[in-house]
Amino acid sequence: MKLNINDILSKSILTPGRGLLNEYSHSLNPYAGCAFGCSYCYVRQLPVSLFRDEEWGTWVDIKANAAELLRKELIKAKKKGPVTIFMSSATDPYQPIEAKTMLTRSLLEVMLEVQPDFLFVQTRSPLVKRDLDLFKQFGNKIRISMTIETDKEEIRKAFAPSAPPIPARMNALKEITDAGVLSQATISPLLPCTREFPKKLKHLASRVTLDDFWMGDGSGGKRTEKLGIHKIYEQEGMEKWYNPAAHKVVLKMLKDELDGDIQVLVSQKGFMPGID
Ligand code: SF4
Repeated sequence: MKLNINDILSKSILTPGRGLLNEYSHSLNPYAGCAFGCSYCYVRQLPVSLFRDEEWGTWVDIKANAAELLRKELIKAKKKGPVTIFMSSATDPYQPIEAKTMLTRSLLEVMLEVQPDFLFVQTRSPLVKRDLDLFKQFGNKIRISMTIETDKEEIRKAFAPSAPPIPARMNALKEITDAGVLSQATISPLLPCTREFPKKLKHLASRVTLDDFWMGDGSGGKRTEKLGIHKIYEQEGMEKWYNPAAHKVVLKMLKDELDGDIQVLVSQKGFMPGID
Protein backbone atom coordinates (compact mmCIF):
# COMPACT_ATOMS: atom_id res chain seq x y z
CA MET A 1 0.00 0.00 0.00
CA LYS A 2 1.31 3.45 -0.92
CA LEU A 3 2.06 5.69 2.05
CA ASN A 4 1.48 9.43 1.78
CA ILE A 5 4.19 11.07 3.93
CA ASN A 6 4.40 14.84 4.46
CA ASP A 7 6.31 17.28 6.62
CA ILE A 8 4.06 19.63 8.57
CA LEU A 9 4.62 22.48 11.01
CA SER A 10 2.64 22.07 14.23
CA LYS A 11 1.32 24.91 16.34
CA SER A 12 2.02 22.99 19.56
CA ILE A 13 3.39 19.59 20.53
CA LEU A 14 2.41 18.88 24.15
CA THR A 15 -1.29 18.07 24.59
CA PRO A 16 -2.92 18.17 28.04
CA GLY A 17 -3.58 14.64 29.42
CA ARG A 18 -7.26 13.74 28.95
CA GLY A 19 -9.59 10.74 29.21
CA LEU A 20 -7.72 7.53 30.04
CA LEU A 21 -4.50 9.58 30.17
CA ASN A 22 -5.79 12.08 32.71
CA GLU A 23 -3.11 11.00 35.19
CA TYR A 24 -0.52 12.50 32.81
CA SER A 25 0.08 16.20 32.51
CA HIS A 26 0.67 15.77 28.76
CA SER A 27 0.72 13.43 25.78
CA LEU A 28 3.27 13.78 22.99
CA ASN A 29 2.81 12.64 19.37
CA PRO A 30 5.81 13.19 17.06
CA TYR A 31 3.69 12.12 14.09
CA ALA A 32 0.06 12.32 13.06
CA GLY A 33 -1.15 9.16 11.34
CA CYS A 34 0.42 5.73 11.66
CA ALA A 35 1.80 3.42 9.00
CA PHE A 36 1.01 0.34 11.11
CA GLY A 37 -2.72 0.89 10.47
CA CYS A 38 -3.92 -1.71 12.97
CA SER A 39 -7.53 -2.76 12.24
CA TYR A 40 -8.58 -2.17 15.86
CA CYS A 41 -6.86 1.23 16.28
CA TYR A 42 -9.27 3.45 18.21
CA VAL A 43 -7.69 6.53 16.57
CA ARG A 44 -9.65 5.56 13.42
CA GLN A 45 -12.73 6.84 15.31
CA LEU A 46 -11.14 10.15 16.38
CA PRO A 47 -11.39 13.47 14.49
CA VAL A 48 -7.75 13.26 13.30
CA SER A 49 -8.77 10.27 11.17
CA LEU A 50 -12.51 10.85 10.62
CA PHE A 51 -12.06 14.31 9.08
CA ARG A 52 -9.29 13.21 6.74
CA ASP A 53 -9.98 12.13 3.19
CA GLU A 54 -7.49 9.24 3.38
CA GLU A 55 -7.76 5.86 5.03
CA TRP A 56 -6.06 5.38 8.42
CA GLY A 57 -2.73 3.62 7.88
CA THR A 58 -2.08 5.24 4.47
CA TRP A 59 -0.75 8.63 5.61
CA VAL A 60 1.79 10.03 8.05
CA ASP A 61 2.45 13.67 8.87
CA ILE A 62 5.92 14.35 10.26
CA LYS A 63 5.80 17.20 12.79
CA ALA A 64 9.02 18.69 11.54
CA ASN A 65 9.24 21.42 14.19
CA ALA A 66 8.46 19.06 17.09
CA ALA A 67 11.86 19.29 18.84
CA GLU A 68 11.94 23.08 18.73
CA LEU A 69 8.38 23.30 20.09
CA LEU A 70 9.00 20.68 22.75
CA ARG A 71 11.95 22.54 24.23
CA LYS A 72 9.91 25.74 24.58
CA GLU A 73 6.74 24.02 25.85
CA LEU A 74 8.62 21.84 28.36
CA ILE A 75 10.38 24.83 29.91
CA LYS A 76 7.00 26.58 30.25
CA ALA A 77 5.14 23.51 31.57
CA LYS A 78 7.80 22.76 34.19
CA LYS A 79 7.27 26.20 35.71
CA LYS A 80 3.61 25.28 36.36
CA GLY A 81 4.16 21.93 38.13
CA PRO A 82 5.17 18.27 37.61
CA VAL A 83 5.38 17.21 33.97
CA THR A 84 4.51 13.61 33.12
CA ILE A 85 4.39 12.64 29.46
CA PHE A 86 2.78 9.77 27.54
CA MET A 87 4.43 9.21 24.13
CA SER A 88 2.42 8.40 22.09
CA SER A 89 -1.35 8.31 22.38
CA ALA A 90 -2.43 8.61 18.71
CA THR A 91 0.51 7.32 16.68
CA ASP A 92 3.48 5.00 17.07
CA PRO A 93 6.64 7.00 17.83
CA TYR A 94 8.76 4.20 16.30
CA GLN A 95 6.85 3.57 13.08
CA PRO A 96 9.07 2.87 10.03
CA ILE A 97 9.66 6.51 8.97
CA GLU A 98 11.33 7.13 12.36
CA ALA A 99 14.35 5.08 11.17
CA LYS A 100 14.98 7.87 8.66
CA THR A 101 13.74 11.04 10.40
CA MET A 102 15.00 10.23 13.93
CA LEU A 103 12.35 12.67 15.11
CA THR A 104 11.39 10.69 18.22
CA ARG A 105 15.09 10.38 19.05
CA SER A 106 15.45 14.16 18.77
CA LEU A 107 12.56 14.57 21.24
CA LEU A 108 14.27 12.22 23.70
CA GLU A 109 17.42 14.33 23.40
CA VAL A 110 15.42 17.46 24.23
CA MET A 111 13.83 15.64 27.19
CA LEU A 112 17.24 14.70 28.53
CA GLU A 113 18.17 18.39 28.57
CA VAL A 114 14.84 19.63 29.95
CA GLN A 115 13.70 16.59 31.89
CA PRO A 116 10.06 15.76 32.56
CA ASP A 117 9.30 14.08 35.89
CA PHE A 118 8.27 10.92 34.08
CA LEU A 119 8.07 9.66 30.48
CA PHE A 120 6.05 6.63 29.35
CA VAL A 121 6.99 5.39 25.86
CA GLN A 122 4.35 3.24 24.13
CA THR A 123 5.25 1.39 20.91
CA ARG A 124 4.93 -1.89 19.06
CA SER A 125 8.12 -1.43 17.07
CA PRO A 126 11.48 -3.14 17.62
CA LEU A 127 13.09 0.07 16.31
CA VAL A 128 12.68 1.37 19.87
CA LYS A 129 15.83 -0.49 20.94
CA ARG A 130 17.89 1.91 18.79
CA ASP A 131 17.42 4.54 21.51
CA LEU A 132 18.51 2.37 24.42
CA ASP A 133 21.55 4.62 25.02
CA LEU A 134 19.17 7.53 25.68
CA PHE A 135 16.66 5.54 27.76
CA LYS A 136 19.44 4.52 30.16
CA GLN A 137 20.19 8.19 30.85
CA PHE A 138 16.64 8.80 32.14
CA GLY A 139 17.18 6.39 35.08
CA ASN A 140 13.85 5.53 36.74
CA LYS A 141 12.05 8.47 35.11
CA ILE A 142 11.12 6.40 32.06
CA ARG A 143 9.24 3.21 31.23
CA ILE A 144 9.28 1.55 27.82
CA SER A 145 6.07 -0.29 27.05
CA MET A 146 5.94 -2.75 24.14
CA THR A 147 2.57 -3.85 22.83
CA ILE A 148 2.39 -7.63 22.54
CA GLU A 149 -1.29 -8.28 22.07
CA THR A 150 -0.97 -12.00 21.28
CA ASP A 151 1.72 -14.65 20.93
CA LYS A 152 0.18 -16.03 17.70
CA GLU A 153 1.73 -14.60 14.55
CA GLU A 154 -1.25 -15.68 12.41
CA ILE A 155 -3.55 -13.67 14.70
CA ARG A 156 -1.22 -10.64 14.55
CA LYS A 157 -1.27 -10.91 10.75
CA ALA A 158 -5.09 -11.06 10.70
CA PHE A 159 -5.59 -7.99 12.92
CA ALA A 160 -2.48 -5.90 12.24
CA PRO A 161 -0.78 -7.12 9.04
CA SER A 162 1.46 -4.04 8.73
CA ALA A 163 2.64 -4.08 12.34
CA PRO A 164 5.98 -5.67 13.30
CA PRO A 165 6.14 -9.44 13.96
CA ILE A 166 5.65 -10.55 17.57
CA PRO A 167 9.02 -12.36 17.98
CA ALA A 168 10.91 -9.20 16.95
CA ARG A 169 8.95 -7.17 19.52
CA MET A 170 9.68 -9.74 22.23
CA ASN A 171 13.41 -9.71 21.44
CA ALA A 172 13.60 -5.90 21.49
CA LEU A 173 11.73 -5.72 24.80
CA LYS A 174 14.06 -8.28 26.39
CA GLU A 175 17.08 -6.31 25.26
CA ILE A 176 15.66 -3.14 26.86
CA THR A 177 14.79 -4.96 30.09
CA ASP A 178 18.19 -6.69 30.28
CA ALA A 179 19.84 -3.25 29.97
CA GLY A 180 18.15 -2.25 33.24
CA VAL A 181 15.50 0.09 31.80
CA LEU A 182 12.00 -0.09 33.36
CA SER A 183 9.79 -1.89 30.89
CA GLN A 184 6.37 -3.36 30.31
CA ALA A 185 4.86 -6.03 28.10
CA THR A 186 1.48 -4.58 27.20
CA ILE A 187 -1.19 -7.04 26.10
CA SER A 188 -3.45 -4.42 24.58
CA PRO A 189 -5.87 -5.00 23.12
CA LEU A 190 -5.95 -8.65 24.17
CA LEU A 191 -6.25 -10.84 21.06
CA PRO A 192 -6.66 -14.63 20.91
CA CYS A 193 -3.53 -16.25 22.32
CA THR A 194 -2.15 -19.63 23.38
CA ARG A 195 -1.86 -21.11 26.89
CA GLU A 196 1.91 -20.65 26.63
CA PHE A 197 1.64 -16.86 26.28
CA PRO A 198 2.28 -16.08 30.00
CA LYS A 199 5.38 -18.29 30.02
CA LYS A 200 6.75 -16.50 26.94
CA LEU A 201 6.42 -13.17 28.75
CA LYS A 202 8.22 -14.36 31.86
CA HIS A 203 11.64 -12.76 31.44
CA LEU A 204 10.75 -10.10 28.90
CA ALA A 205 9.76 -7.11 31.03
CA SER A 206 9.68 -5.68 34.53
CA ARG A 207 5.89 -5.96 34.51
CA VAL A 208 2.91 -7.00 32.38
CA THR A 209 -0.31 -5.08 31.75
CA LEU A 210 -3.48 -6.56 30.30
CA ASP A 211 -6.16 -4.47 28.61
CA ASP A 212 -9.01 -5.10 26.19
CA PHE A 213 -11.40 -3.20 23.92
CA TRP A 214 -14.10 -2.83 26.57
CA MET A 215 -11.80 -1.42 29.27
CA GLY A 216 -9.34 0.38 27.05
CA ASP A 217 -10.91 2.00 23.98
CA GLY A 218 -12.26 4.94 25.99
CA SER A 219 -15.92 4.20 25.13
CA GLY A 220 -16.69 0.86 26.81
CA GLY A 221 -16.08 -0.99 23.52
CA LYS A 222 -18.40 1.17 21.36
CA ARG A 223 -15.61 2.59 19.19
CA THR A 224 -14.33 -0.92 18.55
CA GLU A 225 -17.82 -2.14 17.70
CA LYS A 226 -18.10 0.62 15.06
CA LEU A 227 -14.85 -0.56 13.48
CA GLY A 228 -16.46 -3.96 12.79
CA ILE A 229 -13.62 -5.87 14.42
CA HIS A 230 -15.91 -8.79 15.25
CA LYS A 231 -15.75 -9.74 11.53
CA ILE A 232 -12.06 -10.60 11.87
CA TYR A 233 -12.85 -12.79 14.89
CA GLU A 234 -15.48 -14.58 12.79
CA GLN A 235 -13.08 -15.06 9.85
CA GLU A 236 -10.55 -16.58 12.23
CA GLY A 237 -13.17 -18.77 13.95
CA MET A 238 -12.37 -17.03 17.23
CA GLU A 239 -15.77 -15.43 18.06
CA LYS A 240 -15.63 -16.58 21.68
CA TRP A 241 -12.67 -14.27 22.24
CA TYR A 242 -14.68 -11.16 21.31
CA ASN A 243 -16.10 -10.96 24.78
CA PRO A 244 -15.53 -8.63 27.76
CA ALA A 245 -15.03 -11.69 29.98
CA ALA A 246 -12.16 -13.19 27.93
CA HIS A 247 -9.57 -11.08 29.72
CA LYS A 248 -10.43 -12.77 33.04
CA VAL A 249 -9.27 -16.15 31.75
CA VAL A 250 -6.00 -14.69 30.46
CA LEU A 251 -5.52 -12.67 33.65
CA LYS A 252 -5.75 -15.86 35.73
CA MET A 253 -3.20 -17.56 33.44
CA LEU A 254 -0.85 -14.57 33.78
CA LYS A 255 -1.19 -14.44 37.57
CA ASP A 256 -0.66 -18.19 37.92
CA GLU A 257 2.54 -17.97 35.87
CA LEU A 258 3.98 -14.58 36.80
CA ASP A 259 2.75 -13.50 40.26
CA GLY A 260 5.61 -13.37 42.71
CA ASP A 261 8.09 -12.66 39.91
CA ILE A 262 6.69 -9.54 38.28
CA GLN A 263 3.60 -7.37 38.64
CA VAL A 264 0.52 -8.06 36.54
CA LEU A 265 -1.68 -4.98 36.14
CA VAL A 266 -5.03 -4.44 34.45
CA SER A 267 -6.05 -1.62 32.11
CA GLN A 268 -5.50 1.99 33.23
CA LYS A 269 -3.38 0.95 36.26
CA GLY A 270 -0.71 -0.25 33.83
CA PHE A 271 -0.43 3.11 32.14
CA MET A 272 -0.05 5.39 35.16
CA PRO A 273 2.88 7.78 35.36
CA GLY A 274 5.67 7.10 37.85
CA ILE A 275 7.42 4.02 39.14
CA ASP A 276 5.71 1.43 41.36
S1 SF4 B 1 0.45 1.23 16.18
FE1 SF4 B 1 -0.96 2.22 17.61
S2 SF4 B 1 -1.45 4.21 16.67
FE2 SF4 B 1 -0.55 2.93 15.08
S3 SF4 B 1 -2.30 2.00 14.04
FE3 SF4 B 1 -1.59 0.55 15.61
S4 SF4 B 1 -2.83 1.00 17.42
FE4 SF4 B 1 -3.02 2.78 16.02
